[in-house]
Formats: sequence, structure tokens, C-alpha cells
Amino acid sequence: MPKIYIVDVTNRDGVQTSRICLSKLQKTMINLFLDEMGVFQSEFGFPTTNHELNYLNANLKLVEKKILKHLRLSGWVRAIKGDVETAFKNAPSIKYLNLSISTSDQMIKHKFQGKIDYKGVIKSMSQSVGVAKKLGAQALGVNAEDASRSRIEYLVEFAQAAKDAGADRLRYCDTLGFDTPSSIYDRISQILEKVKIPIEIHCHNDLGLGVASSVAGAQAAIDSGVDVYINTCVNGVGERAGNADLISVILAFKYGSGLKKYKIDDRINLKKAWKISKYASYAFGIPIAINHPGVGANAFAHESGIHADGALKDRRNYELYDYEELGRGELEVIDTGRNITVGEYSGIKGFRNVYDKLEIKFKDDKEARKILELVRYANVHNQKSLVDRELKFLARHPDIAKMIFTMEPRI
Ligand SMILES: [Zn+2]
Repeated sequence: MPKIYIVDVTNRDGVQTSRICLSKLQKTMINLFLDEMGVFQSEFGFPTTNHELNYLNANLKLVEKKILKHLRLSGWVRAIKGDVETAFKNAPSIKYLNLSISTSDQMIKHKFQGKIDYKGVIKSMSQSVGVAKKLGAQALGVNAEDASRSRIEYLVEFAQAAKDAGADRLRYCDTLGFDTPSSIYDRISQILEKVKIPIEIHCHNDLGLGVASSVAGAQAAIDSGVDVYINTCVNGVGERAGNADLISVILAFKYGSGLKKYKIDDRINLKKAWKISKYASYAFGIPIAINHPGVGANAFAHESGIHADGALKDRRNYELYDYEELGRGELEVIDTGRNITVGEYSGIKGFRNVYDKLEIKFKDDKEARKILELVRYANVHNQKSLVDRELKFLARHPDIAKMIFTMEPRI
């Protein structure tokens, strides 16, 4: 039976979104959280963008050193030969890429405006797949941008050409959130009837249907006998109204009516949901919506008489799943007395105090001062208080951390 895998795109679609940013250290933390959560792949950035390069190469080192244990790191580039070549020049050990090009009449006519036609789109995609394979890509996805508004016959032709060129997956991009659950089910079934290729589903939320369409698209792929890879973002961020939310998609397949037979990657560990969502919220500076599925403040709150009474008698009366499963339920203690923090102007005494509480020891004073210097830089880099998880990362992997926030504009 084919399976459902998660390809999280927070570090690509999420951060390219207007007014949403993450520092390179924060992006690294998201990768570490995704890895712990058992997510299959993180689209971790843009290997043709200069300010990403140290971060990308440092994260590829985390894979080499098995600090990122299972997570695949994939880059996003345009399906253009030159972009693929630049990607491998900039990040030589990159193994996974998604190559993107528009396939709708709207975009081919009104975005490319005659620079490239239908045949040219397929040629550029096929050529770039060939180049990526030659340069060492182990798995490649080909993105049909605006697939939901593309003519189905052209998508079939595009999918066949991608498969012939050696692509491993076709990313069906509902770039404008135009699909509905029934339309995406039909369209993906139609493509797969003609061309058998594993599918990635990339849905946006402009109509509030991002998660629903992702679920329906995945059902179509599995019903047609291929593996499916759903694109998500932590807390549902992403261009405009966002992408399909990571936690909601997982919850849907675990608890949705009629979805039992669709098996989601068994490495997924929802216990980490609360932590990743809270961290992302802090890093983005965007509160988790009070009614967010699973992780919102009200997701397990009951006040009205009948609901509170029912939930107290038996949680299943008003709760579809348990808060413990999402890693919720622990008390969070806030120290209201003296609080020593560490940041860009800290000295060694305060630093020692903070790290003692984290139970991290240094072999000598020289090492402690080195980590203090890194902590100062990390705080300059993040421009917000560092959390325990970040402080621990700096102490454990100082050389990689240094690389992550070393940045020199190539101008
Ligand atoms: Zn997108």
C-alpha cells in the first residue's frame, strides 16, 4: 500500500512570505524540530540565493554528522539549467531538489509573456532534470506551478516528460488555492490514470481549503497506487493566506472520518507538535491562533455548561483526540523572581549561570568564552532572546553554529 509522507516547506514557502521571516539559526532549529517529529523532508531554502549559502551548507553538514538523523533537505530552484548548475556549485553536497516552472495558460501567457512557450516549458524542465541528475541529485521533484489552473492535457504531457527525464515526483501546485477537495481529487486521478508518478501536493489556503484539498489530493494519489508527499508549513504560514498546516494535515489522517485506510509515514511523532508550533510562533513573532487545531489555546478548552460537564465525564464526549498525543499537558513554570539571561552584551558570569541551569559544562574557561562569544553573535543574528534549545545547540555544535550566522554580502 502506498504511503503519505510530509514535505514541510516552512523554510522555503513560509519564509518567502510577505512580512514573515526567520533567521538562519531559527531555520536550522525548525529543521531539527522537523527531524525529531519524523517529517520526511524539509524544503530548507534556496541554493541560488547568496545569503542562504552558509546556512544551507551548515545544515547539510548536520546531515553528514547525523545530527539531523532522517530528515531529507531539499532545495528549491527554477527549472532552468543555469539555476541547477548554480545550486550544485553553491551547495555541492545537496542531494535533493525541486525544480519549478509554471504550467498554466495564465502564467505561460501573462508571466512569461512570450519568453518561453508550452514546448519551451517542457524542454527547460526536462533539460534541468537531466543536468541535476548528472550533477548528483539523488531524488528530484518537478513542480508544476499553478497546476490547479493548468489544462489537464498539458499537465499529463508535462508529467510524462518529467518522468521520461528521470524526475522522481511531480509536485502538483495549487499555487493560488483554487482547487476544492473534489476538483483536486479528480484532476490528480486523471493525471495518474495516464502517467504513474509519485505526487507531491502543494495547496494554498486562499479559500480556506488548504488542508482539505491536500487530504483529497493525497487520497487520489493513494487510490491510484502511488506514494504521495504533502507539502505543509508549521502553523499554516505561507504565501498570502498560507499553506496547508503541518499539524492539521497529520491530525486529519489520524482521526478524519473515512481516512483510516490511508497510512501516513509511521515515523511521524505528534508528541513534538506542541514544541515545534510554540517555537515557530516565537521565532516568527506570530501568535498561534486561539482556535488552531491541536495546538491553539482553545483546542482542549471547555466552558459552556453542557460541554464542560460532558468533557469531565468522558473526554471523548467533546474531544476527538487527546492533548497528550500532541505533547501538551505539562505545566510550564515561569520564574517570577530574579532572572539572569544571556545575550549580545553578556559577560562570563551571567553566561555561566544560564548554562549551569541548562546543565551544560565546559571543559575549561577558554571553551566557555568561545561559546559566550557565539551566544553574543547568535543574539545579534536573531534579535530576540535565545531559547534553551538554541543555547544548547550553540554549545554542542559551535563550528556549525558559527557557519550558520556567518554572512558576508557578495556585492
Ligand atoms: Zn506555495
